[in-house]
Order: sequence, then structure tokens, then C-alpha cells
Amino acid sequence: MASRIGFIGLGNMGGPMAANLAKAGHTVIGFDLAEEALGRLEEAGGTRGASVAETVAQADVIVTMLPAGRHVRDIYMGAGGVLASAKPGALLIDSSTIDVDSARTVAKAAEDMGMPMVDAPVSGGVGGAAGGTLTFMVGGGDEAFAAARPFLEIMGKTIVHAGGNGTGQAAKICNNMILGISMIGVSEAFVLAEKLGLEAQKLFDISSTASGQCWSLTSYCPVPGPVPASPANRDYQPGFAAAMMLKDLKLSQEAAASSGAATPLGAQAAALYALFCNSGGAPQDFSAIVKYLRGAG
Ligand code: NAD
Repeated sequence: MASRIGFIGLGNMGGPMAANLAKAGHTVIGFDLAEEALGRLEEAGGTRGASVAETVAQADVIVTMLPAGRHVRDIYMGAGGVLASAKPGALLIDSSTIDVDSARTVAKAAEDMGMPMVDAPVSGGVGGAAGGTLTFMVGGGDEAFAAARPFLEIMGKTIVHAGGNGTGQAAKICNNMILGISMIGVSEAFVLAEKLGLEAQKLFDISSTASGQCWSLTSYCPVPGPVPASPANRDYQPGFAAAMMLKDLKLSQEAAASSGAATPLGAQAAALYALFCNSGGAPQDFSAIVKYLRGAG
């Protein structure tokens, strides 16, 4: 059955996600501050809303894909925002990557007003958003998850219920903390190998079948050659930009501080990515940290 979906935040990710919902036969009304984003939605079969309030007023389902926690708090809880304007019982899905505390605060306020909500951040990047193959990590109650699932299945391929509200965001930042740390570890090993006269391909052949094996090595190798599809082979064009990795590492450190978890390597990874981004690396793929480490040595 076709639903009426209000979609707020039609950027690099939200634009193609909204287009896939429209393509699947839902009525999509979208809102963004950027005029081009609204034009692209119309081309994809959606209609433009004039404001957040107008976009969500008649919607059965509301999806948001915004830059950060402050935007999400504002759009949901601010004057004329989603909670003030949506129908009672509307299902709320926030797919932005934001801090766990904001995700829990907004979900609690929504559910107090009778609107079930899930946090459903994604991995898979703009390619996954366009192809409808994203992975969704979903935090929320069983009923809200069950209601959200058919819509997430249009935009993604793998849908995982992580637990209660906030656990989708927790899964996303824990995963990306592993990724940031492991990319630095793999990069350091390649830089050390260069200094020791060990060829990169030889290190790859050995470590990819030995105990150093990990995704940063075998799927996303930070030096050119061993994994032809990795960004190292196209001058570190992203992929996943270092600025985005830094954002996620900062979120992991905020969460570690507020929950009292010890994540000393996560803190080091955040500090290194901040140095790399400040020295001009922000728009490059996050695996370009290898160049920074080579220089720093
Ligand atoms: P983006 O900057 O391209 O899109 C964000 C959109 O939100 C913009 O179009 C902006 O105009 C709009 N926006 C901001 N404030 C608004 C407001 N008050 N009202 C209406 N619209 C508003 O960012 P993106 O790349 O689409 O990323 C969105 C989220 O997805 C982020 O949280 C990001 O961390 C996460 N994410 C991105 C990727 C990726 O590869 N790009 C991958 C995984 C997760």
C-alpha cells in the first residue's frame, strides 16, 4: 500500500534515498534548504514542501537525513518542527549519523507524543543510496522497527535491529571506530615495510592470509596495487572522505566520554585524523592517512 512520506534533508544521501521511495510507488514530499535538491526530487517523481511543517503535516512516515545532531534536534524539537506538526501516530525514521544522546533525547520526546521513532543510520555511501543497497543499523522498539522495515528495505539491502533507541547510532560509531583504528594500523605497517625494504605486495600477500588480516587491508588497501578497486589506485578520491571519518571518530569520543568507556586508541585515531584533515586531507579518502604517516615518519 502506498504511503505518504515526508523526507527532510535531500543531500548526497537523502536525495537518492527519497528517489527510491518515490520509484517504489510511495507519495514523497520533500524539504531541503537547497533549491537544487528540491529540483532533483521533482525530477525523481516527488513534490516539494514549502517548510518542515508543511512537509510532515499529512505524512504517515517521516524520514530525515541531516548533517549532525544539532540539525536533528532542531528539525524535530524546534518551533514548527516535526513533533509540533506531524500527525499523531506518524512513524519517524532518522537516518542521519548523529550522537547517541541526541538520538535518545529526540526519540523519547517523539514517543512521549505518541510517535514511534527509530534511529537508522546507514553505511554504504552515495553508491549504496543510489542503488538501494544501504545497510541500516536500527535502534528502537520492536513495533517501531517492524513498521519501519518495509521502507528501509526499499532504500537498503541489509537491515539490522540493533536494540533500543540509540543503539543504531552506537553500532555505527563503534564500527567506524574499528575502521579508523584499523586503517591507521594497516597504514603504519605499510610505511614500516617500505622503510625495511619489504615490498607492499609481499606484505599484502602474507598479512592478508595471516593474523593481520582485516577489511582495511583486504578490501580497502591504503597503498596502490594489491586491491585494484581501493581508492589508493585513483589518487585517494573518496570513497569515504577523511572529514567524514573524523566526524564519526569525534562522535565515538563524545559517546566514550559520556558513557565512561575507555577508548584510548579511538582517541588517538580521532587526533590523527584531525591533524590529517587540518593539513588538507579532509576531502581525500580516509585511507590517504597513509600519506600523512609516511610524511610524519
Ligand atoms: P549532505 O550535506 O549532502 O546533505 C544534508 C542535507 O541536509 C543538505 O542538502 C542540506 O541542505 C540539508 N539540510 C541541512 N539543514 C537543513 C534544514 N534545517 N532543513 C532542511 N534541510 C536541511 O550530507 P550527506 O552526505 O547526505 O549526509 C547526511 C548524513 O548521512 C550525515 O549525517 C552523514 O554523516 C551520513 N552519512 C553520509 C554518508 C556519505 O557517504 N555521504 C555515508 C553514511 C552516512
